[in-house]
Order: sequence, then structure tokens, then C-alpha cells
Amino acid sequence: MRYIEPHGHMVSRVTDDYIDMVTAGCQAVCEPAFWAGFDRSSVNGFYDYFCQLTDYEPKRAAKFGLPHFCWLCINPKESEDVRLAEEVVALIPKFLERSNVLGIGEIGLNKNSRNELKVLEMHVDLAARQNQMILVHTPHLEDKLKGTRLIVDAIKSDPRIQPDRVIIDHVEEHTIQLVLDAGFWAGMTLYPESKCSPARAIDMLENYGGERLWLNSACDWGVSIPLNVPYTALEMKRRGWSAEDIDKVVYQNPIKFLSQCKKFKLPKG
Ligand SMILES: [Zn+2]
Repeated sequence: MRYIEPHGHMVSRVTDDYIDMVTAGCQAVCEPAFWAGFDRSSVNGFYDYFCQLTDYEPKRAAKFGLPHFCWLCINPKESEDVRLAEEVVALIPKFLERSNVLGIGEIGLNKNSRNELKVLEMHVDLAARQNQMILVHTPHLEDKLKGTRLIVDAIKSDPRIQPDRVIIDHVEEHTIQLVLDAGFWAGMTLYPESKCSPARAIDMLENYGGERLWLNSACDWGVSIPLNVPYTALEMKRRGWSAEDIDKVVYQNPIKFLSQCKKFKLPKG
């Protein structure tokens, strides 16, 4: 099997995870910038994190033969402090030139607050000005539908952004239609506890077809399973999916979306 892990917070994972992923057929991993589990005390914390995502972590992944890409932003959980967010957003352009940076992400909303929305718009403006792709995080549980609506409206209202260069992640049964109808890509996050189980993700794939959809594990420092994409592929096989159709969802689809950024290239052979 071959697959892409399009959303993995590898800085939180150990080297055994890299070995397992490569052994399972992972061909590339993409790492959106996110909340570290604690709030950074200043813009310098983000500077160091962006260096880690664009320099140290790709080197660590390369030791296991895995190409590593990333997305940059200040995450919604730290967006209440708008001044800090402005400083971080000002820091991003010079990192965008680095060879493994695919775009702006994972931006979005957490508690759907006014300040979060302001910082989301700041990032969307940055992406538009720099012609960058966007990866979006949607809120959890009861805030998800409202948050997804707010995000879709905010991005749609900027005519400079092409919807097919935006992926809205962590969709569930009640938000997937909204995202696809707006012309965006949608990501399904396979979590052991919340978000989406492999069985629910496959149900959604069967209901909505396999266009503009990808699967990811979003593995991070919390309870999460780095191999959840290949585990789900196995479950698809058990449910009668052909090898070709599985390959489309776990390998070809992410490549189709990510290749819109010229920097996303897999080694030949
Ligand atoms: Zn994430």
C-alpha cells in the first residue's frame, strides 16, 4: 500500500512512529502549524517553531526516507491575543520561501470568538497576497457547525481565494456537504476518541463519492494513532473497496490537492 499523511504533527511524535509510517507505505507527511499544548509566551516561540517545522523536522523525517512538508500560521487557540497574532503573521512571509512550506494553516476557529475570526481573516488576507494555499481547522463538537459556517463565509467573501486551493479539515457528517458545496476540499480526521472513526469516514466516502476528499490521522501530542490512514484503508478493503479506489483516496487525492503548490514533489521511483 502507498499513502500520504496530509496532516500529522510530527514534532510531537517519536522516531518509532516515523518507522511505522514508512513501513506501512507512507510516501510523504505534511505538518500544519498548531497549538503546542501550551500558549507560547511571545512571538519568539513561533519563530523557533517555524524553524523547527522548516528545518529540523524535515531533516529528522529524511533520516527515515520520508519527505516532510509543512503549513504555517498562529493557530486559533492562541488567536485571542490579536497583537501577538499580528506579530506572528508578520513573521510568516519570510518563511514562505522555504522549500517545504505548502501554505497557510491550520488556521480556523476554536471557540468562534470575534478575535479568532479577526485573526482568521488576517491569515486569509496573507494567503491571498502571497498566493498561498490554505488548510483550515474546524472547531470541535457543538461549535463545529457554526464555526464551519463562519469559516466558509469568511473565505468565500474574499474573491482572491480559489476554493479548490483550500482544504477544510475535521469535517463530520453534519459539515461535509456544506464544505463540498462551497467548492472546497474536505479532510476527514481519524481519531480514536473524537472527530471521526474509520467506519464513519468510510460511510461518508461512500455517501459523497471520493472527490475533493482526503483522510488524515492528525496525530499529535494527545491520544491519536499515526497509522490511522492505512488502518482505514484496510477497513475499506474489508468493506469491498477495490485497491484502485482505495489508492485514489489515500494517495492520489492528497497528491492532486497538494500538487497545486509547486513545492510538493515526491521523489521519483
Ligand atoms: Zn492538526
